[in-house]
Amino acid sequence: MEEKELERLLKGIRGDPKVKKAIERLDAGYGTYKDVNTIALQTGKRIADEMAIAYDEAALVRYLEAGHGIIAMSAEAAQTNLNAAAKIGIKPMTTKTPSYKIAQTVAKISAVEPEVIPTMCENILPSFMLEMVDDITKYNADFQKDSGLHPIIRRTWSGMYGSHDTRHTDNCEQMAGEWEYGDEPPETYYRHEGCRCTVEYFPNKYAEGQITALAKYEVARNGELGAKEETLERRLADAQRRKKLDRKLGL
Ligand SMILES: [Zn+2]
Repeated sequence: MEEKELERLLKGIRGDPKVKKAIERLDAGYGTYKDVNTIALQTGKRIADEMAIAYDEAALVRYLEAGHGIIAMSAEAAQTNLNAAAKIGIKPMTTKTPSYKIAQTVAKISAVEPEVIPTMCENILPSFMLEMVDDITKYNADFQKDSGLHPIIRRTWSGMYGSHDTRHTDNCEQMAGEWEYGDEPPETYYRHEGCRCTVEYFPNKYAEGQITALAKYEVARNGELGAKEETLERRLADAQRRKKLDRKLGL
């Protein structure tokens, strides 16, 4: 039963058109953290939709753990692409399942009145998934900075959308910017409830240009997206098929 639920969730996420496109870009070698943020956002929305149908605390924990697995695999692909574009021979790093943060978030949701739960999930789960990306971003940036490199951090304002509280938009707009990692203000990683701003990372200030050039080259050469042996698409499909999602994706 549990495995069936997870399988359905993962199938739904992978079938989402925005996620599909992001996975294609990551597999083609030029997807970046922007694509990881897209996957995280759609994953959070999808989990919120499932919870709106039937709220189940234990299932939510499993979904968020699986969500972290998807994000970790996607971030690894993005980081590999970025390191290759910047010609850096450093392995991508990823975070462990943030069990404590997941437990805290689920407890917060479970504490509200049942009729408020769907709105609450819709509000906080997408930003919670984005926060998982931020943590991986910081982890990699930290490591590269310690290795003597000069990573770049960029925070992008998500703009106005749906239920976004207007009280927050001024702050978020002002927090947008680009810095060398370590020079960014501490609030760069701050997220208010429901925030959908994104934080991206590049190994150096030339990496984005290099990866864009690579994308143009690949498209011109193949007329389509490149094919790698070990693709993210395949890894996610395998994880789904093997029906060991909680173990496989919970890492
Ligand atoms: Zn925001």
